[in-house]
Amino acid sequence: MKKLLMIGSGGREHAIARKLLESPTVTTVYCAPGNPGMTRDGIELVSISETDHTSLIQFAKGQEIAWTFVGPEVPLLNGLVDDFEAAGLKAFGPRKDAALIEGSKDFAKQLMNNYQIPTAAHETFHDFKAAKAYVEAQGAPIVIKADGLAAGKGVVVAETVAEAVAALSDMLEANRFGASGARVVVEEFLAGEEFSLLAFVDQERVYPMIIAQDHKRAFDQDRGPNTGGMGAYAPVPQIPQEMVTTAIETILKPAAAGLVSEGRPFTGILYAGLIATETGPKVIEFNARFGDPETQVVLPRLTSDFAAIIDALLTGKEPEITWQTAGVTLGVVVAADGYPGEYAKGQTLPDFSGLKDLTVTYAGVAEKNGQLVTNGGRVYLIEGSASTVAEAQHKIYSYLETLDTTGTFYRKDIGSKAIQV
Ligand code: AMP
Repeated sequence: MKKLLMIGSGGREHAIARKLLESPTVTTVYCAPGNPGMTRDGIELVSISETDHTSLIQFAKGQEIAWTFVGPEVPLLNGLVDDFEAAGLKAFGPRKDAALIEGSKDFAKQLMNNYQIPTAAHETFHDFKAAKAYVEAQGAPIVIKADGLAAGKGVVVAETVAEAVAALSDMLEANRFGASGARVVVEEFLAGEEFSLLAFVDQERVYPMIIAQDHKRAFDQDRGPNTGGMGAYAPVPQIPQEMVTTAIETILKPAAAGLVSEGRPFTGILYAGLIATETGPKVIEFNARFGDPETQVVLPRLTSDFAAIIDALLTGKEPEITWQTAGVTLGVVVAADGYPGEYAKGQTLPDFSGLKDLTVTYAGVAEKNGQLVTNGGRVYLIEGSASTVAEAQHKIYSYLETLDTTGTFYRKDIGSKAIQV
């Protein structure tokens, strides 16, 4: 029997911690700092910030935590796993030198070049004039990306050269993203449907999960600004299995092996954001952790013991991984009005007592007088499974209609791309 520690506070961390707690060998999952919605599922909160490595290490030692699961990218890039290992503790997630596959788009591009991993053609620039000249020569549509972390907001898909030049000026001249935008990757626009392929990875060992599709734009029909993700479903019936197999062989496996060859072995969750182009899958980004909200629809489909998989990966053993393959799991994010821009906090959450055969995963929530209130952009997600995408949509949307969602909004078309085909 063991106790685990989860780092992070979002819906992704809620979904991971809840799944870990299902394991018969796990007695307690602590989450630092977590969110108060998680306590509804028996997860215990620890009020230590994810940046306070010393206190986290002290807590893990004091509570005899078997291992710690690091959810978000920022602590990974800050070297939380490195610090835990230096203190003699086990933590699941890449060390910071391997997490750079997410932390620097330029590094990720170099890795893809070195190991012939299919991705959009690109150039990296520090200098505005040179970048502008390149964009003018290439023409539009074209994609401009801040090099470092920008919480999903450092990417501009420019429809015109003028829009691309304005984005370059924002990043390289006006420093809108600070150091993250001091270096810019200019990328070929790829046409095709997007999907997320995640895998459990330990060095060269790659165990793919079921694919998912996120919805990054704030509003229906992919309109409005990019967000952290407004909903997802898994699997994605319109992406053929052959495309997924090709992606595993030509993208995930060479990326994991490439990181080993570069002396940066990766243990953790490797996430490939892909576009299914006419010439096969191509990478638009790598992440060094689970995606949010993909996790909330992928993990419910895992039918083997999640904690045992992580145990196996951390000890070099062969994990047993099985999935529910029939049907689909869909999740709809409910966000505060105004997100991803300015939004209010403190709105009381609806009463979920009528919930049947659906799951609530909490993200941006706080607790006031025993009640949950909104406290972030993405507030909660409603997830459910059914035999088809249309049925899952019906189940979730008809429930959402019964809720008082004042002060919040959600997309009404999560999963619709799977039905139109
Ligand atoms: P990223 O933060 O890299 O995932 O990019 C955010 C969004 O921009 C992606 O989900 C895509 O919709 C879009 N995008 C990024 N790169 C490209 C590309 N090369 N071609 C077309 N769309 C892209």
